[in-house]
Parts: sequence; structure tokens; C-alpha cells
Amino acid sequence: MSVLKYSRGAALFVALFVGLYLAAETPVSWTNPFPPFRIAGNLYYVGSEDLASYLIVTPKGNILINSNLASSPALIKKSIEALGFHFSDTRILLISHGHYDHCAGSAEIKRLTDAKYFVMAEDAPVVQSGGKNDFQYATDKSMHFPSTHVDLALRDGEQVSLGGTVLTAHLTAGHTKGTTTWTLDETEGGRTLHVVIVGSPNVNPGYKLVKNSAYPRIADDYRHGFDVLKGFKCDVFLGAHGSYFGLRDKYERWKSGDHDAFIDPNGYRAYIADRERAFETELQHQSTPKHESAIKHPSTAKH
Ligand SMILES: [Zn+2]
Repeated sequence: MSVLKYSRGAALFVALFVGLYLAAETPVSWTNPFPPFRIAGNLYYVGSEDLASYLIVTPKGNILINSNLASSPALIKKSIEALGFHFSDTRILLISHGHYDHCAGSAEIKRLTDAKYFVMAEDAPVVQSGGKNDFQYATDKSMHFPSTHVDLALRDGEQVSLGGTVLTAHLTAGHTKGTTTWTLDETEGGRTLHVVIVGSPNVNPGYKLVKNSAYPRIADDYRHGFDVLKGFKCDVFLGAHGSYFGLRDKYERWKSGDHDAFIDPNGYRAYIADRERAFETELQHQSTPKHESAIKHPSTAKH
């Protein structure tokens, strides 16, 4: 009996601690609502202030990219309905990559709609395990999420079509083994616009780029990903987080009448170049043994 009481008390304490920990770790910009709006053609923004979700509306039903946090589906539903569409018309659910800030809401969205869940093959096991076999976060419970059945594992370059809209899934791995950059064309004002939704080119704190036994080819994958990203012709620059492409500033311009605010090929190139430099700097840092860097390259900091 006393053991049971103790267990209950301990469980409550752990639950409170985990709750506080998660609350402290989740940036408010991830849960702050953001006004939904039409970006171009049949492509709409339905995410939060920083966790980007995109709705593609077609006559055969809708495609949703990114389900975000486990708590996000209600917010996404509200945004879709505010635009005059039906959440229940979601037919296909896609993600940028298998981290909880982009895919934790997927189980709930699958429960609430008839959406089929298409995930890049290399991220499918992570999504189906709820993050428990992620190469970096397997033992980090704060990064886990409801495990979700994947209906179709996508191959690099595979196209997803619905009601006349075609999206292409590009494997731009490294951040996760299946990080996906989505491209599609939209027609706006008689122009064809190439849209790129960047999956994530970022190296997270603690990522081992050298001798990573859980992901031996991580550095090669990042390099390949940057080559792929640099090869895209991009007019409309978007990504998994609003911060990648300056969502707030561009939205303010959009709201004041500049409906080309999201057309930003230079911003896209600059962002990819900046992220590639950050990756190469971290790779070089990790490739140089500490004692060597101190002894053989004493003047590195000056350059
Ligand atoms: Zn991530």
C-alpha cells in the first residue's frame, strides 16, 4: 500500500516535472496563433507564429503539410476554417521531417480526418516509433511524440498529386535521415511561381557530424542536401519554421498590400548559403582534434 502511495506520489511528481520542463522548453512562438492567409495560387499558411503548416486546396480535397505539436491540430483546424475550408477535407498529410515540432499532431489529424499520411521512407520508422528510434533523440523523452502509422513511404523525387496539384518530395537529409524539401508550382497573376518549402538544413546542438555510429553518413547527407537545395529555382521561399524565411515581416508587407512579399529568390539563396557555411564551420570544428586545433592552428580565430 505504502509502495503504491509512494509510486503515485512519484508519478505525480514526475508528471509535474515533465510538464514544467516541456512548458519551459516550448517557445511561445510555436503555440502563438498566426493569421491564416493565401500565399499564392491554392497554397495557404495555416501554421502558428513559428511552426509552419501549409494547406493546398484542390477540387479533390486538401493536402496539409506539417501537423506540428501534439497540441497544434485544434489551431490548424481553426485556421483552415477561418479561410472558409473544411478540416475534414484533408486527404493527404505530409511533413517536413520527423521531429515532434512538425509531426507530433499527425496521429490526432489522422483520427479527426480521413487523411493518408505520406512520409519520406527514411523518416517513416522514426514517425512510426514516435521518435524512439531517432538517431539523436532515442533516449530523450522530451523529443518523443505519439507514434503514427505511415500509409505510404515516399522515395526521393516521388510526386504526390491531388486534384491537379503536384508536389515533389526531395530528400534533403542530415537534420533527420528523411528530411524532405517540398517543391510545387503555383500560378498567380498569370505567372508561374516555383515554391520551395525547405525541410531543415540546420545542425542541432549536440549533433555528431564525425564518426556518428547511429548515422554514419550524416555529413555526406547534409552536403548532398545543400547541393539539392542550391539547384532549385525558387521564387516563393518557405520552410518548416517561419523564422527560416522571415514569416512575420513578410506577412506585414503582404497585409499592407504587397502580395509579392513571399517572392524572395535572393533571400532563399542567402539563407541556404548561410546554413551551408554554418554546417561547414561545425564540421571543420568537429573534424579538428581539440589539442591539434590549439597547437597547430593557434591563429585560426583571427581569420
Ligand atoms: Zn527538426
